[in-house]
Amino acid sequence: MGLKFHLFLQCFVTFSLLYVHGNRTIGAVFDDGGFLLEAAFTLAVATASDGQENPFVANVVRTSPDDLLEAEEAMCSILETNVFGIFGPKSKSNIGSIQSIADYLDIPHITIEPMETQNRNWSVVNLYPNHFAYSQVFLDIIEMKGWTEFTVIYEGAELLSFLDNILTMQDLDSGEHILMRVVQLPDGDDYRIQLKNVKASGSVNYIVYCRKETLPQFLEQAQQVGIMSDDHSYIIMNPDFQTIDIEPYKHGGSNITGIRFFDPTLEEIQNYVVSLNEKVEELSEGQITNAIADNAITLDLVLLYDAVILYTTALNAMGLEEPANVTCESVDSWSLGSSIINYIKAMEINGLTGVVKFDEEGFRSDFEVDIIEVQAHGLEKVGSWNAEDGYVNTRIVIPPAEAEGSDSMKGKHFIVLTALSAPYGMLKESSNKLEGNNRYEGFGIELIEELAKMNEFNYTFDIQADGVYGSLDSKTKKWTGMIEKIMDGRADFAITDLTITSSRQKAVDFTSPFMNLGITILYKKPTKQPPNLFSFISPFSMEVWKSLGGTFVGVSVLLFILGRIAPDEWQNPYPCIEEPETLDNQFTLANSFWFTLGSVLTQGSEIAPIAVSTRMAGSMWWFFTLIMVSSYTANLAAFLTVESKFYAIKSVADLSNNPYEINYGAKKGGATFSFFKDSDNIIYQKMFKYMDEHPEYQTATNDEGLERVKSEDENYAFLMESTSIEYMVERNCDVAQVGGLLDSKGYGIAMKKNSPYRQPMSESILQLQEEGKLTRMKDKWWREKRGGGACTDDDAGSGESQPLVLANVGGVFILLAVGSALALVCAIFEMVIDVWLISRKHKVPFKEELIAELKFILSFSGDVKPVRHPEKSSSCSGGSKKEENGDDMESNKEADANRDRAPTPRSERSTHSHHTLHSRRQSNAVQMAKMRKFSRV
Ligand code: GLU
Repeated sequence: MGLKFHLFLQCFVTFSLLYVHGNRTIGAVFDDGGFLLEAAFTLAVATASDGQENPFVANVVRTSPDDLLEAEEAMCSILETNVFGIFGPKSKSNIGSIQSIADYLDIPHITIEPMETQNRNWSVVNLYPNHFAYSQVFLDIIEMKGWTEFTVIYEGAELLSFLDNILTMQDLDSGEHILMRVVQLPDGDDYRIQLKNVKASGSVNYIVYCRKETLPQFLEQAQQVGIMSDDHSYIIMNPDFQTIDIEPYKHGGSNITGIRFFDPTLEEIQNYVVSLNEKVEELSEGQITNAIADNAITLDLVLLYDAVILYTTALNAMGLEEPANVTCESVDSWSLGSSIINYIKAMEINGLTGVVKFDEEGFRSDFEVDIIEVQAHGLEKVGSWNAEDGYVNTRIVIPPAEAEGSDSMKGKHFIVLTALSAPYGMLKESSNKLEGNNRYEGFGIELIEELAKMNEFNYTFDIQADGVYGSLDSKTKKWTGMIEKIMDGRADFAITDLTITSSRQKAVDFTSPFMNLGITILYKKPTKQPPNLFSFISPFSMEVWKSLGGTFVGVSVLLFILGRIAPDEWQNPYPCIEEPETLDNQFTLANSFWFTLGSVLTQGSEIAPIAVSTRMAGSMWWFFTLIMVSSYTANLAAFLTVESKFYAIKSVADLSNNPYEINYGAKKGGATFSFFKDSDNIIYQKMFKYMDEHPEYQTATNDEGLERVKSEDENYAFLMESTSIEYMVERNCDVAQVGGLLDSKGYGIAMKKNSPYRQPMSESILQLQEEGKLTRMKDKWWREKRGGGACTDDDAGSGESQPLVLANVGGVFILLAVGSALALVCAIFEMVIDVWLISRKHKVPFKEELIAELKFILSFSGDVKPVRHPEKSSSCSGGSKKEENGDDMESNKEADANRDRAPTPRSERSTHSHHTLHSRRQSNAVQMAKMRKFSRV
């Protein structure tokens, strides 16, 4: 009811205007439900009337959208007012309804809507660019970008005609095959399922055509789904792309390209916006102020302005004063209608949307647009397109150095791929349920946190579940694991114990290394050797012992010979006899050996060399023994205190020779395995062959390698990187690093080839290194957290002296026991021989004599032994005949025998048997008798 009354009122007003002389009425039907189009229309009409003798008057009727009947009524009511032409409406169905009347009555109908079909015979002029030319713009952009793969995402079937050129696109000029997918967005406002499918398809380039109202939602959901990273590119076909809020997408890294028909910052546009806002305020009677925000003016408002200017310019140019005098009831059409349409299609004006002109078919296919791109500071014009030249690149190429500024990562969001490999990335131990990045901790996790702080970026961790870091599959020629994901753009960065290798460097970029390491061996700790009873032999090698023995014999014999040669060694045995008949020599063979043995055992002997030659030989021997004994003592201390260990392997060379048949392997597909594979060193090649032939010894993770090394059931060595070994030996006290490093390399953060983030990330890593933060972080994750330092005391004291246990020195006891036993045997043997000699000499039974001797020995009564068979001749008081005759020969022999015994070492002397003492006393008596004889003479 209200609407009917409103229509009536409007007709009344305009009907009265008809009688105002010289006014030219232009009708318009708007169904947008707002004041914007009406404001634009009336403003344009007012502008067109400026300075005109016969001003234009706007006759606007507002209707509901998609109401054919209402639109028809509105059209008819406008025709009652004798108009020159009709503008609007917006909805497709209403346009169709009005167009059919306009076409029938030949009333020029000017529209600004994207229409799929236009019949050139119809009395319609559409300022919206022709769909064919429109799609050509995007085709040229796609070709310029060189996309060989993309997905067309469109909203409604009515927009399909604007994709004409794209959907029928052939392969690129360069000969590259084009892979195109087409996805239609569903009704409603949730496109996530479709977007996830697009993501799953692996497509990274998208050309999107949807309504301006849908676009923000679409972009937001694309970001949520994770297709808004550096690797994703968008071309937005909606001409109002520049009016949406691009703030959330400025730093995401995606390349987003669009077009615009005008630059909103131009002065005439700005002025137009100001006037429009005033007009809306006026039409809404102050209800709506500032209807159009800064730079948010849409194409339809500008096109409508251009359309009014174009049409009024044509009317002025044609000098038309007479309006169409037709109504909906008329049978005849307006005779001038077609002339106006034809005139317009042949003319050209400079509007707010650039040059407005039509092709022979009557379509606006010759237009110019700006190509714009989302950049960190906002939208930037990067090119232009016109029908004649196609895409013209006007992008200002910023030198890479400037482009990679320190804030190039600011505000962006990255997917950071990591693996659960201690201590680089680990699951946090917590009783609470953790979510997101909070679930992880470790050296790599903390490093990313630091880098994110420094470069102000956001990140989400993604876990490489299978723990495969990446290697080039020689058969498929494809990369695997984390490297593959980085190359595919499924992750932006990869951080873990990821080694920088030359082959990986060809596929991805690495930052400067954040840790240095080399390959080495993880193996069980060397086993302790049980103490050696005879470790007192160890200070000298067998060779030295043998040489020592040889020298001892040699020098002893030499002394014996020298003693015989040197005249001074022949001494008067009885100094009181001035002219002795015989001379004595102390260096008998036995004494020579005794002398050398005494000095080598640092006990000395009572034998003292007299001649220069024997003294010289003796002193050299003493010097030799001094050095030997000191060396022995010094070395003995070390051998007794240092624990000896058994090393099954000491280096890779041992592993390659493998005398103990140790199984060994490395991480499957890891940098260590590749090192052996690519090496031309013979030892490493041999080891690679072994590992290649025994895939069962390759492990999926370092932890598996550790478990196999520790296992009691297996004799296994694991080739591994030194930093990881360092971490493990801190916590597993039964394993150790064996041997040195085979190479020198580093861990880095991987990212896509030619990534602009390599520079800022590397700079930040170097800064962390210089500040000592990386070292502190390493100490924290290696030595403090998660059971670090458990084995630090394990080897303590290995350098300090340990108390010697019996097992260390037991051999000496054994030697003493054996020596003592031998001495006892000797003593018994001597005693038996002596008893036997006495029994023979005195003709007494051996057994009797032996029992008597044993009785005496076992009685342990004092140190005086009675002589059981005294010899008469030995009496000191009464000289015998034999003695009187000077039985020199016999007495001399006995004296000689006694002298041989005389130089017995002190120690031995004290242990002389009574029998020996007895003999000595006898010999002394002989000597005294001799002296008496000489004095008588
Ligand atoms: N860091 C190695 C890599 O990046 C994994 C461990 C290894 O091979 O020892 O592949």
